[in-house]
Formats: sequence, structure tokens, C-alpha cells
Amino acid sequence: MIRVAINGYGTIGKRVADAVAAQPDMEVVGVSKTRPSSEAFIANERGYPLYIADIANRGKFEAAGIAVAGDVEEMLRKCDIVVDATPGGVGKDNKKLYELYGVKAIWQGGEKHEVAGISFNSSCNYNDAFGADFVRVVSCNTTGLCRIIQLIDEAYDVKSVFATMVRRGSDPGGIKKGPVDAIVLNPVTIPSHHGPDVQTVLPDINIVTTAMIVPTTFMHMHVLQMVLANEANAAEILELIRGHPRIGLVKGSTGITSTAELRELASDMGRPRSDLWESCVFEDSVSVVEGTLYLFQAIHQEADVVVENIDAIRAMMQVTPEAGESIRMTNEALGLKAI
Ligand code: NAD
Repeated sequence: MIRVAINGYGTIGKRVADAVAAQPDMEVVGVSKTRPSSEAFIANERGYPLYIADIANRGKFEAAGIAVAGDVEEMLRKCDIVVDATPGGVGKDNKKLYELYGVKAIWQGGEKHEVAGISFNSSCNYNDAFGADFVRVVSCNTTGLCRIIQLIDEAYDVKSVFATMVRRGSDPGGIKKGPVDAIVLNPVTIPSHHGPDVQTVLPDINIVTTAMIVPTTFMHMHVLQMVLANEANAAEILELIRGHPRIGLVKGSTGITSTAELRELASDMGRPRSDLWESCVFEDSVSVVEGTLYLFQAIHQEADVVVENIDAIRAMMQVTPEAGESIRMTNEALGLKAI
């Protein structure tokens, strides 16, 4: 069993912990929090040993009735690999600690590429992470872009990409952020950081991205166009998408045209936390006009990177050299089937 620790048991960390616990070849040896919170109670309830960043706070946790197993350094002594899901910009400071304890580490998209030197997406560059000590799983938007661009590029040779990200304002549990009544250009300058981030995984892709934030909490929506070198038609592209293990097609026959309906679908499917681990491409949007592919895809920001973290663990721990095999194992353990 691969012994996995999760440093930072928040939006992403708690999902990664549950996904690790569901895998036949992995176990959760610990999760960490900085302050007592409802998530700390849940960690106790799920039986994940809870470690804390600053052991001086132990009394605060215990006064709240939360059992503490020790500090983060003790957690690192017990694991083979740590998934760092601390807030963006915090994780890089933990690298020295991971080096000190000789554990492999995975960071999230809130950290820069340089923290690990390998930016990861299961479908694109699983082999780059094989046996690696440090890997960064790219952000939710970049994950969604990489999956579809790589699929189309392999079949049709993508000459250029233009994509606009309509981004959720905050995660559903967030109470501190807006916007409340605005569409915020994020950033106002072009390109947004997403294009260069895609190039950390797919360096040969010519891509320009723009992004704006809207007052919603569940999912981002991408408007994508790709200029193709080879002749293509929508029917063939839909067939390709159907064959991808992490891209779901939102069928026209469902009548779904919004993220709100997707959340209802995920909840009806019994998905934990209404998580959609797959990119959701709207079938009826897939169009080819004069050599350019256009489509809409919705990306569940809290979920799509979770399955990528699981595959990154398998690559780094050299469980299998085959990306497809790891993806199959991860999907099967979580019950990820075509929507
Ligand atoms: P979050 O704020 O929800 O959770 C972070 C957790 O880390 C919290 O539980 C906090 O208590 C804990 N923490 C803070 N400082 C710590 C420290 N020094 N040591 C240990 N734990 C500490 O953040 P999140 O949204 O889960 O984001 C985590 C990472 O994932 C970021 O890099 C982010 O950019 C990336 N990411 C987030 C999303 C998303 O939609 N939320 C999507 C993809 C990637």
C-alpha cells in the first residue's frame, strides 16, 4: 500500500483524501489542518489521523473535541508521498520540509511550475512524472484545457487555440469573496495565465487565453476554439471525445444547457459532494466551421484535479508505466462512468 499524507485538508485536500482512501493500492496515513474547523471534525469522523501545522495549537483542537495525532513533521515520517493542498503560494515553503524527510511531493495549480519542474496531466504527460520526486498538478482550468487540446491535437494537429474562461467567483463554501454584481475581467490584460500554464504541460501548443469572473460558485465555463491543420468534422470529434476517459459529453437529449443543471445531475448520480471529475463538453456545441473547432466545456473546479492527483501518485511511485492503466484504476475506484 502506498502511504499518502495530505498537507492541507481544505477544498482540494479533503477530496484527494477520500479519493486516496477509495483506491485499492493507497492508504491515507494523515491529513493536516492549521485551525479547528468543521473539516477537522470530519477528518476525525472518517478516521484520518489529524496532524496540525503548529503543535502549539494542540490545546485549541482538543478543547474543541478534535483528536490530534501530532504535528506535520510526524505525519511526514509516516508517509511515502505527500499531497500538498495548502492555499496557493503556501505550498512552496513546505518543499524544504519534504526534502528533509525524503518524501515525494505533489503540489497544486496555485503554486508555480518551478516548485516541482514537472507540471502534470494524466492524459498528456504521465510518463514525465514516472519515478519523479516532485510534481505539480496543474489548476482546474488548465487540466480541462489540456485534456481536450491534447485529444484534438493528436488527431488533427492543432495550429492554434483561443479560449475564454468564464470563472466562478468563489467555491460554494467560500464566504469572503465576490463578485456580487459584476463581471470582472481577470485579468484585464491578454493573455491570462492559463495559456502559458497549458504550455507547461503541452509546450508546442500555440494558445491565447482570456478570463473573467462571474457571480457563481459551481464550475467554470470555457469557450474554446482550435484552428486545425487536418480536415475534421463534428461527428468524428464527438466520437473521439466519447472515447476519452476523463471527458464527458453532455448529451443534447438531456436538455442541459447550464452549470446549475449539471450540479443537479451530479447530485442525482449520487456523486460525493456533487463532484464532476470529468470535463463536461456540451455535445450540441461541438462544431467545425472552415477548419476551426468550436465548443463549450464546463469544468468543476473542486473536482477535476482530484483524479489527476491520484494518477500523479501512481506515476511517481512507479505503480504502472501506463497512464491508461492508472486512469482506469482511479476511475473504477471512484465510480467515474460516462455522464
Ligand atoms: P483551501 O483554502 O480550501 O484549503 C487549504 C487548506 O490548507 C485549509 O484547510 C487550511 O487550513 C490548510 N492550511 C493552510 N496553511 C497551511 C499550512 N501552512 N500547513 C498545513 N495546512 C495549511 O484551498 P484549496 O481551494 O483547497 O486550494 C489548495 C490548492 O489547490 C491551491 O494551490 C489552489 O490553487 C489549488 N486548486 C484549488 C481549486 C479550487 O477550486 N478550490 C481548484 C484547483 C486547484
